[in-house]
Amino acid sequence: MKTVTILGATGSIGTSTLDLIERSPEAFRVVALTANADVAKLAAAAKRTGARRAVVADETCLPALCELLAGSGIEAAAGAEAVCEAAAMGADVTVAAIVGCAGLKPAMRAVEAGGTLALANKEALVSAGDVMKRAIAAHGATLLPVDSEHSAIFQCLDRTAPAGVARIVLTASGGPFRDRSTDEMRAITPAQAIAHPNWSMGAKISVDSATMMNKGLELIEAFHLFPVPAERIDVLVHRQSVIHSMVEYVDGSVLAQLGTPDMRTPIAVALAWPQRMATPGERLDLVAVGRLDFEAPDPVRFPALTLAREALMAGGARPAILNAANEVAVAAFLAGRMGFLEIAAIVADTLERYDPAAPETLDAVLAVDAEARALTAERIGAVKAGAGRVMTQVVGVT
Ligand code: NDP
Repeated sequence: MKTVTILGATGSIGTSTLDLIERSPEAFRVVALTANADVAKLAAAAKRTGARRAVVADETCLPALCELLAGSGIEAAAGAEAVCEAAAMGADVTVAAIVGCAGLKPAMRAVEAGGTLALANKEALVSAGDVMKRAIAAHGATLLPVDSEHSAIFQCLDRTAPAGVARIVLTASGGPFRDRSTDEMRAITPAQAIAHPNWSMGAKISVDSATMMNKGLELIEAFHLFPVPAERIDVLVHRQSVIHSMVEYVDGSVLAQLGTPDMRTPIAVALAWPQRMATPGERLDLVAVGRLDFEAPDPVRFPALTLAREALMAGGARPAILNAANEVAVAAFLAGRMGFLEIAAIVADTLERYDPAAPETLDAVLAVDAEARALTAERIGAVKAGAGRVMTQVVGVT
C-alpha cells in the first residue's frame, strides 16, 4: 500500500492518475488532492477516493468546496500556501501535475518532505533544475519522470553504466501543424492548436506541442533528469507517437520504449516503481500501426525548439526566462490576444531583453520568473496596441 498526493488532480494528468488509483484501491491510499478552481471535480474525486484533504488554490472557491465536502470528514483548505502544505503531507508518492511554474513551490515542498516526486510538471524542473536537484539530494527524495518521453528513457537507460550511453533521442509527434508552412500557421486559432493528433492533454501543453516548445522544454527536462550532456540529447520527429524515446549506446545498440499514446502507462511506471502495475489502455498492435516514420525537426517552421536549446546551452537563468515568457505568451494566444507565430517571437524578445545572473535559490528562481512574466506581458500589451508587426520584424523569428 502506497500513500499518494496528487497536485493538479483535476487536470488531464491528474484525471489519468486518479483512474489508475481507483482501479487499484488495495495498492494506493490518497492523502491529498489539489486543484486551482474546479471544486466540483475536486470534491467528487476526494469523496470517491476517501482523500484526507482537498485543496483549491483559488481562495474564493473555498466556500463552494466546504459545501460540497460537508459531512464527508474530508478536510478542505484554500490558497497557494495550502497547496504547498498539502504537498508536504509526507505521501509516499506525490504526483506533480499542476501546469506551469505555479507548480514549482508545491513540488519543492514535496521534495523537502522526502518521498518520491512523480513529475509531470516539467515547467518546474525547467525553471529550477539545479535548485530542485540540490534539494532532492539534500532531502533524500526520489525524482521519477511522468512525461512519456522521459519515462521511456528512464526505462531504457542503464544507470549503472552512464559512460556506455552515446546519446538520448527524444521523439516528437511534431504536433498538429507538422505539415503546415509558416504562412499557413499565421492564422492558426486556439481551437486548432489544442487539437493534438495523438494525445489528449491540457490546453497549455497542447499549444506547446503545436509550437514544439514542448519538445524544447523536454530537452531541458531530460538534461536535468539524466546524466547525459546537452549536446548528446537529440530530437526526432516520429509522427505515430509509438516509440516514446530511445537511448543509443556506444556499441551501436539503440533501446526504445514503445506503447500506445496513453499517459496512464508512464504514470503507472512512476506510481508502481520499482514494480510494475497493470493499466487498462489499448495494447500496442504493430501490425495495425503498419509503419513508423521519422524525420528531422524543422528549425525554421518551429523556432521554439532552437530557442530552448540555446537556453539550455547558456544555462543560468535562461531556461526560467524561456519558460515564463512562454507561459505568458501561450496564455495570451489562448485568450485570442495574439497570433500563433508570435508565441516564439515574444519568447525570443524577452530572452533578448532580460539576462540576469543565475538564480541559486528557489526565491531567486521565482523572482526571475516574475520579472520575465512582467516583461513579456508588457510587450504583449504593446503588440495588442498595434506594434505587433514591428515587433516580429525586429525579433526576426516569424
Ligand atoms: P491541465 O491544464 O489539464 O491541468 C492542470 C492542473 O493544474 C489542474 O488540476 C488545475 O486545476 C491545476 N492548476 C492550474 N493552475 C494552478 C495554480 N495556479 N495553482 C494550483 N493548481 C493549478 O494540465 P495537464 O494535466 O495537461 O498538464 C499538467 C502538467 O503535466 C503540465 O506541466 C504538463 O506539461 C505536464 N504533462 C502533461 C501531459 C498530458 O498528457 N496532459 C503529458 C506530459 C506532461 P483546475 O482544474 O482547477 O484549473
